[in-house]
This record gives sequence, C-alpha cells and structure tokens, in this order.
Amino acid sequence: MNEDDTVPVREERVIAAAVRAAYAWSTRDEHGGEAMTEICRMTGVIMEAHGPGKSPTGPLDLVEALGRPLRGLMLSSDDTGVGEIELLDGDELTDAAHDLAAEYACPLDRTGAGTGDWLPSWTRMRSDRVSREVFRALIEDGSQKVYVNSRQFIIENPTGLPELLPDERLQAGARPAGRCGPLAAHQKHTGRDGREYWWPCPVCKYPMVVDPPEVRCPYRLHRARFGLDETARRPRLVLNAGHRGPAARSAAGVECVDAGVWRSVVVPGVTELRLAKRLRRYSEVHLWPGFDTYDLHVVTGDYHYDVKECASLKQLIRRLREDGAKAMLLLPDTHSHQIDPLRQAGFAALSEKDAVKLARRAAGEAR
Ligand SMILES: [Zn+2]
Repeated sequence: MNEDDTVPVREERVIAAAVRAAYAWSTRDEHGGEAMTEICRMTGVIMEAHGPGKSPTGPLDLVEALGRPLRGLMLSSDDTGVGEIELLDGDELTDAAHDLAAEYACPLDRTGAGTGDWLPSWTRMRSDRVSREVFRALIEDGSQKVYVNSRQFIIENPTGLPELLPDERLQAGARPAGRCGPLAAHQKHTGRDGREYWWPCPVCKYPMVVDPPEVRCPYRLHRARFGLDETARRPRLVLNAGHRGPAARSAAGVECVDAGVWRSVVVPGVTELRLAKRLRRYSEVHLWPGFDTYDLHVVTGDYHYDVKECASLKQLIRRLREDGAKAMLLLPDTHSHQIDPLRQAGFAALSEKDAVKLARRAAGEAR
C-alpha cells in the first residue's frame, strides 16, 4: 500500500480539509467566489480520501456535515474527543477549529486541491510550521539569546500599542517577529458611550472574542468565559465562578499578533513559561534550546523536556512515531490523562507534578 493511503494519513487530510472548508464557509461573505471554490476543492479532497459512496456528495452536503460532530467525517473510530468536535456553529467557525488546525493542517495541493493562498497560514500549516515561519529570520541569524528573548516577548506581549512596542522590545532584547494588525471586529465592543473596548484573556492576554452576551478566550483550557454587562456607559465583564473579569480597555490604536501566531506560539508558550517559572524555583532553566529543538532544559539534574499540550492524542502519537521524540515528554496538569497512553505507545512521558518533584530532589542533592 502506498504510504499516502494509510488510514491515519487519509484521516489527517480529511480533518485538514474539513477545517479549511469550515473557515471558507464562515468567511464567504468576505471572500465570495474564492471561498466557494475552496469548499468545492475540499469536498473533492474528502471524497478522494473516503473512496466512493462513503462521504459528503457535494459542497452543501459537506457544509451541513461540518455543523455536526466530526466523527461523521472520520475514517476510524475515535476515543480522544476529536470526534465530538463541531467545526461550524450555524455560519460561524467554532473555537475548536483552531485547535484542530494546529495539529492537523497539512498541505493539500498535491492532491490537486490548489494552494489556497488567500487562506490564513494557520488553516494551511500545523503550529510547528507556523512558528518556524514566524521566527525564520531570527533562526537564520543564529543568536539563541535574541531568539529566546523575541519568542518570550511575543508570548508575554501578544497585544499592544504599536508606538510603545519598539521601546519595550528593545528593553527586552527582542526583535520583531510575526505579523501584527488591528483588532478584528469580533475582538472589540462598542460601549454605550460610543467608544470601542477590548478585554485581554487573563491567561494569555490575547483579545477575547466578544460574542454577546458572552466574552471568552477561544482557547477552552484558559477557562476565560465572562458575561457582558452593558448597563453602564463603559461595558463591564461580570464574575465567572468567582473570578473577576478584566477591566475594559480602550481599543483605539491597539494591535495584536495574528490568529496563527497566537495559537502556534502564544498559547503553547504561556504553558512553557509557566512550567519554566515553577522549575526555576529549583534550578536554572533554559527555554527552547537549539532554536526550539525541545522546550525546557532544567540544568540541575540535566533534564530535557518537550512540553505537549495537544487536543488529539492520536495525532500526537502519530507525529511522535514519524518525527521521533526530541526529549522527555512533559504533560501539563491539564493533560496528565495522556501520560499512560503515551507510555503504552513506547514514549517517555512525565507529569508536571513529577517534573517539579525531580527538580526539587536534584536541587537537594546538588546542595
Ligand atoms: Zn487565553
């Protein structure tokens, strides 16, 4: 059998095509003919992957399927939750589409599907590729220190005022990387005072999605979901499970990194920086050694970790089998349920709790 014809490879194409078609449908008012052409192409990709008689038979049939759980389009059974994801909610792209794209997006042009140049990079490239593109110039430049400072700067400052950013960057020893642009319509809200406002996610600081009566971070695990109170002149967020919502900020002149950089660099980076901070209580920790060969080097005890925060365990194992593990896999507390299956698949994996324990022990021995 041709390697391209195995079930996992065909299934990756199906999910990648489904994300692209869902994105195209959700932006068809803006992109018109191009969007509809893309949906037709993606229908072709999915039909080809399924073989005759088992898939959507036309573009509108596919659009309808995108509003139902993904398992209806998948080629194999799924017990990792990916099959439950819906990509369209009415005509809107769901938040989970970003998570799937980060793990499944792949080039589909060799199947005669066109390159879809008008599509944003996050719908066409997996997050590791997007992040390599973002930092390409810095990697070629060859300074690990500037690379680390720049990467950390983006993670900590995904949103800002363009006139302040250069100074702040200079102070942080960072250089520009990735595109910034004005906030999108769904990231702002006009108050009763006629001014535009935005809210940073309390975890990643990226502009939350304003979807009245709700304001939320599209990355579900940040658990940032607030009610919108519009009774005052300046809109406010109401408490959510005891957490006070961040205050509304003026959207005038504010820019943020694009959705691809947010999902590929900022979201995983927030966890990497959090873990580094925890481990630095016991040891010096280097971030992204060798231009991101892996994520964390804990110097005392010489531990090397690659942090994995993936929605699809199945896809993670597939990637690890293909590319090989670069270091011990470190699973944040939110993903500790993936440790046993990863070990059963033959990979060395460790929980956040155990990594902290090891660092503490090594620090004690070194004393
Ligand atoms: Zn967030």
